Amino acid sequence: MQASGIAAVPSELREATVELLGELIRHDTVNPPGNERELQGLLALRLAEAGFECELMGAEPERPNLVARLGDGEGPTLALLGHCDTVPARSEEWSFDPWSGELSGGEVRGRGAQDMKGQVAAEVAAAIALGRSGWRPEGELLVICTADEERGALGAEWLCTQRPDAVRADYVINEGGGASFEVGGRRFHSLCVGEKGIFRFRLRAHGRPGHASTPGLGDNALLKLAPALAALADQPPLDPTPEGLAFLAATLGRELGPGPELDAVLAELAGEAPEVASFLAEPMLRVTLVPTRAHASDKDNVTPSVAELLVDCRVPPEMGEPEVRERIASVLGADHAGLELELVNPTVGNRSPLDTRLSVAIGEWLAASDPEATLVPVTLAGFSDSNWFRTAFDSAIVYGFCPQREMGLLEAAPLIHGIDERASANDLGLAASFYTWIARELLG
Ligand SMILES: [Zn+2]
Repeated sequence: MQASGIAAVPSELREATVELLGELIRHDTVNPPGNERELQGLLALRLAEAGFECELMGAEPERPNLVARLGDGEGPTLALLGHCDTVPARSEEWSFDPWSGELSGGEVRGRGAQDMKGQVAAEVAAAIALGRSGWRPEGELLVICTADEERGALGAEWLCTQRPDAVRADYVINEGGGASFEVGGRRFHSLCVGEKGIFRFRLRAHGRPGHASTPGLGDNALLKLAPALAALADQPPLDPTPEGLAFLAATLGRELGPGPELDAVLAELAGEAPEVASFLAEPMLRVTLVPTRAHASDKDNVTPSVAELLVDCRVPPEMGEPEVRERIASVLGADHAGLELELVNPTVGNRSPLDTRLSVAIGEWLAASDPEATLVPVTLAGFSDSNWFRTAFDSAIVYGFCPQREMGLLEAAPLIHGIDERASANDLGLAASFYTWIARELLG
């Protein structure tokens, strides 16, 4: 049964999205080198035919970004954002051709189907359907398709810093959320409201070199890292982030009292849905520390005078250096003494508020199109282009949302940057119909 105002997915829109995704996948935009120009030209042509004003812009001629605009009246601006480059794929590891874009068993197959040509196809197909129908927004509808998201700075970063006039928006919908998952037999869809910051650091120990055949003559720096390395088997205490608390309350189906015993509540969720707890909830609720590299002597027979450990460190949105250092010290404790700690390009994560006109509208769409499902906020453990838009435009509300119901989060997530990447045709239609609905809802 469909609730009022939400129509079933029109089959033409579903077909158009599936067909467009196939074309996008067949344009190889593996980055590097990217070569996004031909694909961007194709999207610009299609959107222009539907009434959009299109502009290609960028720092390099072969790597332009596309900004397509419909409407110029008074009212808010909604931007449907996506990137059209992909990571590489090794054909020999896949069970089908990564660039076939074919429809098989109800799924469109190929590199980018999830990350994120599928969402781009749904956004563009929705925009084309709206434009062709004669609908015009009260404000502006933008479709922004960026280059170079997977590697460099030619995409959203370039647009937001070099052409803010072209991409300024009140509402931005990007990747990072929308897929469904279950807890205790109840269905949820994630709404990505923020991205964690990255505070990688080096831990460095100093000693004295010597011939490795006579250990008494040197002072081995590598051994001094051992206590710190062992301590990093633990993680810092949980942080009561607003997104993490809202996620726990929604998935457990009850309000959490003030000062909840977070460890016990997270353990309760882990008991019901271990993957949801470890993949979604826990990273939202703490600083994570994972040692990823170690380096000491360059020679087999020289006692190292310097030894280094690189630690990947992800922190909740808006957390700054003093708090991060405090969380690190809570794990390393006294083992930290005598070691140098050097932060490597620290990046503070950002977030949009949870309760906004856009989140309410998305919640209404979900309630009407799938009354069994609930919308829950998540923060991404990785980084996305949303960050650039929040940084450039103070008041912009930026979320990640591309609804997927047939292929749930736990099935889809391993396909991203993985093998046999594919997307459900029904989900592509669902996403396209959501984008047409949200544009009409926010822009009249
Ligand atoms: Zn992506």
